[in-house]
Amino acid sequence: MIDNWRGPMVVLHDHLDGGVRPSTILDLARSAGIATPCDDPGALARWLTIEPGMEFREAFSRFDLVISVMQTRESLRRVAREAAEDLAADGVIHAEIRFAPLAHTIGGLSGSDVLSAVSDGFDDARGSGLSTGLIACALRERPPGESVETARLAATHSTEMVVGFDLAGGEVGHLASEHAAALAIAAEAGLGITVHAGEMDGAHQVADALDTCRPARIGHGWRLIDDCRVDKGRIVSLGPIATAVRDAAIPLEICLTSNACLGLPVRDHPLRMLFDAGFRVTLSPDDRSITTTTSSREHNLAATLHGFSRPELSALNERAALSIFGPDELKRDLSSRVTTGWDSTPLRLVHMARRSVWETSRSAGAYLPTEFSRDGFIHLSALHQVLSPANAIYRGSSDLVALVIDARMVHEAIVWEDGTGTLERFPHLYSALPMEAVLAEVDMVPSADGTFLLPAELVRAVRR
Ligand SMILES: [Zn+2]
Repeated sequence: MIDNWRGPMVVLHDHLDGGVRPSTILDLARSAGIATPCDDPGALARWLTIEPGMEFREAFSRFDLVISVMQTRESLRRVAREAAEDLAADGVIHAEIRFAPLAHTIGGLSGSDVLSAVSDGFDDARGSGLSTGLIACALRERPPGESVETARLAATHSTEMVVGFDLAGGEVGHLASEHAAALAIAAEAGLGITVHAGEMDGAHQVADALDTCRPARIGHGWRLIDDCRVDKGRIVSLGPIATAVRDAAIPLEICLTSNACLGLPVRDHPLRMLFDAGFRVTLSPDDRSITTTTSSREHNLAATLHGFSRPELSALNERAALSIFGPDELKRDLSSRVTTGWDSTPLRLVHMARRSVWETSRSAGAYLPTEFSRDGFIHLSALHQVLSPANAIYRGSSDLVALVIDARMVHEAIVWEDGTGTLERFPHLYSALPMEAVLAEVDMVPSADGTFLLPAELVRAVRR
């Protein structure tokens, strides 16, 4: 039997210096004459792992050791190759790997040398089947001038080596807006922008990042839950920051184990709540060695502790594939490899209609709404896809009904195709809907601001 959580994965958030093999750290330290806290890989792996409650500075001292052994072309190339090999061996098909290039110039390399050594390492691993993108990080706690220098370096190499620009580092006391000039340079150069925000500090950090640089993605962002009202384990209303992120469909690069290392137990992570409220959640490992995890382990945790089904995990990876910093052809290719590899579609789908249309377009045997004559098919959605069209098309409607469809009864007439204005694929039904395939109907009631959340009754009826 295939494990529920195994399938091709797309990783958006992986730190090069956070994923170095302990045995490689020891090798490189030995040849550079750098002292290490222990001599055997198992003990070093334990020392590297950040524990909840550890002081921020102590936690980051792990990175200091790793970065100290990555100061030559050869060491950077080796670490990059091994990172790609390890991700590929875990089942990842595409990874965006990030690091702060200027942190690797203390041994005399130039920023360009550093980027080309890492890029060569990724090329060396091409036989593993993994494609990669490189993201250059600036650090919040460093002077803004250094971020500008990193952004200029990344911009210079934006066509051949670098796909994105990230603001990482300690959030508390350091706003993204202090680095606005660097983010503007990177955006101007066409680099994809992602910002660590709402990881160690509150939702206001996400608001500041949104105001500063309109990031294409948010690193972590789980603290958006502070801007949501939660009742009985579900988000029942969204504040202005959470609404802005959800409505702009900004992907969240969620890293469960990494957050656990900083004190949020995986079981208490708002992953499921954010997903159900319509946020574009993706899963990544963050720092594989420093937090002792892998991409497949993160998927296992989502499946076992948060009940993510196989079609849902497939959907997370499809959304990650469509959120990479790269051309549309690559996004399409990765997304189709993801959906083919997971080979899993939901058993129950949803059709949304105005109640008046639903009442007048059904007969005793079948339902055929006017959209069928216009588009040639009936629009359906997987449960996690319901909210984006609901909020885009039906916002404020007080007569919206969601029909729960038994997909197995109509599977031969369903084709998964690009949605309107998006590469995300939606199920389209190329036939009338037989009444016996309609399992339930649930009223969609808008919140005070006119937007929708998934009614608990709909979630129960689809997921049962
Ligand atoms: Zn990170």
